Amino acid sequence: MLTVFGSINVDLTFRVPHLPRVGETVLTRSLSRAVGGKGANQAAAAARDGAETRFIGCVGEDGFGAMARAALADIGVDASLVQTTAEATGLAAVWVDAEGHNQIAVASGANGTLRATAFAAAPTVPNEHVVLQMETPADQVAAVIDTAKRRGAIVILNLAPALPLPAAALRAVDVLVLNEQEAAVVCGVLGCRREGAQEQLAALAAELATTIIITLGAAGAIGAAGAARWRAPALPVAAVDTTGAGDCFVGVLAAAMLRGLTLPAATRRAAVAGSLACTIVGAMPSFPGRASIEAALAGAPQL
Ligand code: ADP
Repeated sequence: MLTVFGSINVDLTFRVPHLPRVGETVLTRSLSRAVGGKGANQAAAAARDGAETRFIGCVGEDGFGAMARAALADIGVDASLVQTTAEATGLAAVWVDAEGHNQIAVASGANGTLRATAFAAAPTVPNEHVVLQMETPADQVAAVIDTAKRRGAIVILNLAPALPLPAAALRAVDVLVLNEQEAAVVCGVLGCRREGAQEQLAALAAELATTIIITLGAAGAIGAAGAARWRAPALPVAAVDTTGAGDCFVGVLAAAMLRGLTLPAATRRAAVAGSLACTIVGAMPSFPGRASIEAALAGAPQL
């Protein structure tokens, strides 16, 4: 079973004629609401690919919290371990102008109250794979890594955003997934600054002695474990919205690992799924189901 521990938000998107200047009020009738947050998105992507998935997160006692739980349940994620606190459900306010430029403010709210004890108290499950990101408190993420490794779970960490985490916690994870910007930040923090993703991949794999995967947008993804190296191409799609592509990648990677695929095969599947997620607007609504991923894989360029 897959356990995703992390953030869940409601995104409020306002399409505005222009972005507000300081002190300005801009009126619009266009408001859309969608459930997001990296944790919830990754859980949703894994469930869409058919993985048995449970989510541990925190929402408020408000309508947005109920909406967030319902979205997870609708997509097939077990939301019974989602906690409710007195803080408001995490909210992202997004303004998008006519040219597609945006401004975003995120109030983490209930996500900031998520504690590692929620993971420790969750019933143990066979073949547990744990997925984590960095939108909930970093000390709690480190504590979950520790507990998960003691329980014998496989741990997949998406260090997004690239916030500081003790090197010991990074070394303890089984797979560390980063995008190009995050890889550069982690190299800098660890004192192994390099130019270029391939060089950063090699430096991180040597420094952390664990599996590293770096996603490269339209160029797919690259991976390293010890001396082994692999590359997974993206699909040549007409991207309409890349929101959630990275989350789709992580969720599908974890689902594939859970199913026992090799790391290169799991990376390839995740890269294809990430590309498919770019062809539809939004995050969760864009995540492909198992059949679409397999159809795309069958037609995808070989490694
Ligand atoms: P993030 O959104 O976290 O920065 P990336 O942009 O690297 O992550 O995207 C994650 C994955 O989604 C990539 O590895 C790739 O498979 C797919 N992807 C992202 N952007 C595109 C694109 N423009 N065309 C095709 N696939 C893409």
